Amino acid sequence: MVKKSSESAKNPLAKGTKTSLGSSSLRSKASSKPSSISRSKSSSKQGSQTNSKVSAKAKTEKKQLKSKAKADSNPKTKTIKSEKSIKLVSKATAHEMMARLRKLYPDADCELNFESAFQLLTAVIMSAQTTDVQVNKVTGKLFSKFPTAKDLAEGDIEKIKEIIKPTGYYNAKAQSIQTCAQQLVTRFGGVVPQTLEELTTLPGVGRKTANVVLGVVFGERGWTVDTHVQRITKRLGLTKNDDPYKIELDLQKLFPDDDWSLLSITIIWHGRRMCFARKPDCTVCPLNEICPSSEV
Ligand code: SF4
Repeated sequence: MVKKSSESAKNPLAKGTKTSLGSSSLRSKASSKPSSISRSKSSSKQGSQTNSKVSAKAKTEKKQLKSKAKADSNPKTKTIKSEKSIKLVSKATAHEMMARLRKLYPDADCELNFESAFQLLTAVIMSAQTTDVQVNKVTGKLFSKFPTAKDLAEGDIEKIKEIIKPTGYYNAKAQSIQTCAQQLVTRFGGVVPQTLEELTTLPGVGRKTANVVLGVVFGERGWTVDTHVQRITKRLGLTKNDDPYKIELDLQKLFPDDDWSLLSITIIWHGRRMCFARKPDCTVCPLNEICPSSEV
């Protein structure tokens, strides 16, 4: 259930690396060895080997995450009607399209569960290359164990990994959310900053993630250009750009700034429910006679 956050006064919606191997099992094995010095060296060497393996895994996962995100966000990789021929629509048609989508999804809202700005920020970082449903399956346990930035910053990384494993790329994601929490604590007193400039200085936080948090928790205006918004705005003829920032600028010119956050979420809902990447459900789409990419 979503509750108001104490960090979000403006929100109208509001809503070391210590491994587990280090304790009893190693100590009991070590107690049978003759020298405490050699035990300590052996343990430390083992620890550093484990850490370097873990860090290598996290690095590999980070690379995989980046290349998958790049491929997914490239509309040319999608099997859809040729986008080269799609002409830009007029402002009036663009507004009509959004009015129909708003009517179709009057309850469109952020689908991630959270109880504070920190929790939403963490959930959005974990949502890379997975669904909100999948993230919601792990956040209950994660946030009951580590409810604040300080708790997560000081948490056992192995425990964090174990909890978030179902979201995929869990080595890289665990490292990202913990490093982000650590920087929130050391640089911002554990409180999520409320500006795009500050938010995007945090590890794992890009423009898209920052705009979600600013729009959903703090009620700030901003376009969240994720893979759905990127794909659908192009199909609808609202932009010809591939670059998320350029798309954001095109959309800013088309719609009033008060609507930016809500329209982002509405388009994301359409992408999840009807205008799918590979087989958009054009036959039942209320935009099918005004959408330049309609396949009916
Ligand atoms: S008509 Fe088809 S391509 Fe156009 S918005 Fe609807 S589902 Fe997407």
